[in-house]
Amino acid sequence: MAPSNSATNRIVVAGNPNAGKTSVFNLLTGLNLKVGNYPGVTVDRHSGSLILCDETVDIEDLPGTYSLSARSAEEEIAMRALAGHPPYKQPDLVLLVIDGTQLARNLYLVLQVLELGIPCVCSLNMIDQVEKAGQNIDIEALSTALGVPVVPTAARTGQGLDQLKSAISSAIKERPVPPVPPALPSSDSSMGESLKRIGAGIPFEWHHGDLRRQAALARWALLSIDPTDELTDLPDSLRATVTQERNALQEAGEDPDLLLIGPRYAWIDEHVRDFLSDNPDTTPKESGSERLDRILLHPLLGLPLFLIVMAALFQSLFAWADPMIGSIEGLFGHFARFVQSHMSESFLREFITEGLIAGVGAVVAFLPQILLLFLFLGILESSGYMARVAWLMDRLMRSMGLTGRAFVPMLSGYACAIPAIMATRTMERRRDRLKTMMVVPLMTCSARLPVYTLIIATLFPTESWFGFSTASFLMVGMYLFGTAIALLAAAVLSKTVLQGPAVPLVLELPSYRRPEPMRILHEAWLKGRAFLSEAGTIILVSTIILWLTLSFPQRNAQVDESPAEAHAIQLEASYAGQIGRAIEPTLTPLGFDWRIGVGLIGAFAAREVFVSTLGIVHGVGDSVDEESSLLRDRLRAAQRPDGTPLYTPLVGLSLLVFFALACQCLSTLAVVRRETASWRWPTFLLAYMTVLSWVASAVVYQGGLLLGFS
Ligand code: GDP
Ligand code: MG
Repeated sequence: MAPSNSATNRIVVAGNPNAGKTSVFNLLTGLNLKVGNYPGVTVDRHSGSLILCDETVDIEDLPGTYSLSARSAEEEIAMRALAGHPPYKQPDLVLLVIDGTQLARNLYLVLQVLELGIPCVCSLNMIDQVEKAGQNIDIEALSTALGVPVVPTAARTGQGLDQLKSAISSAIKERPVPPVPPALPSSDSSMGESLKRIGAGIPFEWHHGDLRRQAALARWALLSIDPTDELTDLPDSLRATVTQERNALQEAGEDPDLLLIGPRYAWIDEHVRDFLSDNPDTTPKESGSERLDRILLHPLLGLPLFLIVMAALFQSLFAWADPMIGSIEGLFGHFARFVQSHMSESFLREFITEGLIAGVGAVVAFLPQILLLFLFLGILESSGYMARVAWLMDRLMRSMGLTGRAFVPMLSGYACAIPAIMATRTMERRRDRLKTMMVVPLMTCSARLPVYTLIIATLFPTESWFGFSTASFLMVGMYLFGTAIALLAAAVLSKTVLQGPAVPLVLELPSYRRPEPMRILHEAWLKGRAFLSEAGTIILVSTIILWLTLSFPQRNAQVDESPAEAHAIQLEASYAGQIGRAIEPTLTPLGFDWRIGVGLIGAFAAREVFVSTLGIVHGVGDSVDEESSLLRDRLRAAQRPDGTPLYTPLVGLSLLVFFALACQCLSTLAVVRRETASWRWPTFLLAYMTVLSWVASAVVYQGGLLLGFS
């Protein structure tokens, strides 16, 4: 008999990051997982089902955390899911995954979870590594001390799977509530009184009258709720009570953090020696990781190796993705032409070929870069090198208000902001992640290159100094400019919108491990699929709207017009043309006229569209690229109504600055919307980049005029 849905038992997998939760989860479920989102935040939610001998249970892989104090979105989710705060369902069993090679550190979370009083099974994972390191863990003693079953496992090889399943099976049947763990503050202190008052303010649906749960949540609240926490959905009254009690305790000279955290660590320090001993048969030798680190983190050798790895990452995004993007675009082009030749001319045909197929093509064209970046990230992350990269770059990035973990996303931003923004997920803190997302679009992405090339080649002199052309100077200058502004923006954001206490990087370097190719491929594919289904829809819809704006209202071509002329007149009469004219007054201070305005509207789909839109406006047709000499000649010949040239080097400089700073990328906004699960951050991004680009271009143009350029 299939169990009905409501009666299905629910298991959550909790543990420190890198303890092997996902590996244990995959082992138990056989990789048949579902990926969704947690409500309101965009931490991926992995769930699946576990088949035991006589029933099937739901199992969920929680984000990794070192404790339950809710500093990051991950910790908040883990806490809410464990405690069954609405909207999460109360778990029937917690499977705690412990990294046996880091026993002491992992036990902190274990103690905190046990306080909640949920039935619990521990998987003492990485047991193979423990043995290799010449250590011995007394499973009996550990299990007795904690009061819950402990099963040694090596998730990578599958060792201990059957024992783990049977421990889960019997725990689900018997639901033994674990004994109250040691290391609690005494109840008849002033701290105990404070905790009682806080406990009274904990919402009923968080504990359902369970006094032990209520007391545990009071301790959690006192530790976690402070002015810099990132908790959402917290009752205001609870926040007020905790603040009041915290202040009162501090005035009385008591440090609540010390009183709550201290005893847990003291207990661990005192007891860990009872469980853990060196195996007398093997002499502990320097581990492989330590040997590797002596090379990879070597003061002299480390840096070149780091540069080689980063160059390979960069190269793959730039050079290897390009041919794939080309073939995707070619494929969609073929498809559009196929439809074109099999349908009679109509609005529907244009909509299908130029709106729909082109729009889907634009979305799919992001896939090569996303997949390549996530394959790379997967290898870096699972081999353990990523933690070293973060560590190596942390000091430099921190001086700009970013974390070392922001380095790889920023570097990827030189190729494309879309995968770079998705890559910010490896950051632990929401604030760091937001900050990086807000500045990555300022990095010089490859879509800016055709625009830069066109403007520089058309409007600037071709002489060279010391063997370098003006063009190459300008190009390098644009890269440096974008990077400098991105770092500056990060520093400013850290002091204003996204200020908060600096949190030191957890300097725990995981041991090196051989990456698992199948798992990395699988996870990269999940990322790509999530992009297609969520950001992809927003990109598609907005591309179609933009296409309609550029092509409507339609007019009938006159007999004596060439197709290119007809196209130009059509664009001028379109909504985009009308908007271009309407916003012309705001563009005049930058040196732009309505024709450039239409180009800027077109560039919203993607910056490189600027080139083809200018092609249409200037009557050269839309199948031009930045190398077209016809387009260059037309641009140089274009005039303002008073007969002066429209495009001067000064206008060119103003345009370059505008393209460097403006957020002309609907896809970026769509992906920020998905990653932050709110409209607030994409709106902020668009607003600040628009203001920044307008002001900077106006300063360049007006300053140039004052200096006597024209
Ligand atoms: P999570 O962050 O807790 O989900 O940890 P993962 O499941 O991603 O595991 C982190 C790394 O540890 C991966 O490279 C795994 O292959 C590896 N790993 C997991 N379990 C074991 C184990 O029992 N033994 C060994 N040697 N490696 C493991
Ligand atoms: Mg995991």
